Amino acid sequence: MAQWSGGGALARNERERSGDDVFNARRAAENKRRTRVDPLTRDHYKIGWVSALPIELAASVALLDDRHEPLPKLDGDSNAYVYGTIGGHNVVMAHLPNDLPGSGSAANVAANMFRSFKNLRFLLLVEIGGGIPRPDHDIRLGDVVVGRTMIQHELGREDSGDGLEDTGDPYMPPRDIRTTLSAIKVRAEMGQNALHGLHDQLEKRGLVNNEYLDGNRLEDHLFKEDYDHLDGTQECDKCDIAQRVQRTSRQSADPQIHYGIIASGPQVIKNAKVRDDIGNRHQALCVETEATGLIHKFPFLAICGICTYADSHNNDRWQKYAAMAAATYAIEFLRSCQSVEN
Ligand SMILES: [Zn+2]
Repeated sequence: MAQWSGGGALARNERERSGDDVFNARRAAENKRRTRVDPLTRDHYKIGWVSALPIELAASVALLDDRHEPLPKLDGDSNAYVYGTIGGHNVVMAHLPNDLPGSGSAANVAANMFRSFKNLRFLLLVEIGGGIPRPDHDIRLGDVVVGRTMIQHELGREDSGDGLEDTGDPYMPPRDIRTTLSAIKVRAEMGQNALHGLHDQLEKRGLVNNEYLDGNRLEDHLFKEDYDHLDGTQECDKCDIAQRVQRTSRQSADPQIHYGIIASGPQVIKNAKVRDDIGNRHQALCVETEATGLIHKFPFLAICGICTYADSHNNDRWQKYAAMAAATYAIEFLRSCQSVEN
């Protein structure tokens, strides 16, 4: 597996960072000027943003630098779009239909988007999913997993216990995306966590009392693989906290970002043994349900906020916080991305 850059690249990136700021400021000014004198058309949008749930899109829209007027839709396009600017890029956003979550609807939304926006270069799939804690990745609720590699895992057999079959080749995002991830990762090695001060950032935007901020007050329990949730309760109020996996407290409240493999399949995983089996087979850090309809069909990057541990203790308490963390990372990605003007 490729390694991230070392010390030489750190110094180089430090110089490039000031260039990033200049680039982004120039791009923002250019976009404002164009908005005034030259109305935007669908051809001006080069980046798509797909959220799996309406709450994710709501989180994303709240973080737009600028929101644009809606544009006429192409005949036959059933998506509902939100238009805006992030980091100087024109971005078109959509979420999956409420009643049809899953890989099929993701593929449909993406197909409509690429048909309507002919200059679209890639999609960001900004979503929530289940974390797979692994010895080399201390994944917690509210963290973000970025899909440097995507795999599809066989589902429908999650209770069989006789192993899961690999399906298809791994997918890696295009070079433009990988280059941007490298830049963000190098900054992280210099101590610049893209999610540092997430709450402070939201406070500046007047969202401090918003329900999305509940995350900091929520409990984060990872139960042992063989300890199942007690039936009859929606949350874990009656589950035995002595059955938790012992983990050290983190020094920082900032969510952490993990780069690695995301495993995608059409069914939500709610079984710790199946989760760990997928993790062991694929070295995956996260399971989700949307990307499998995009893999090898569209250029995309999956950014997944962790809201469960994909076990029987599954509940939705962390969904909004995880959605906001993923959206915040996606914003950082776009502010670091320079290569969509090719
Ligand atoms: Zn429980």
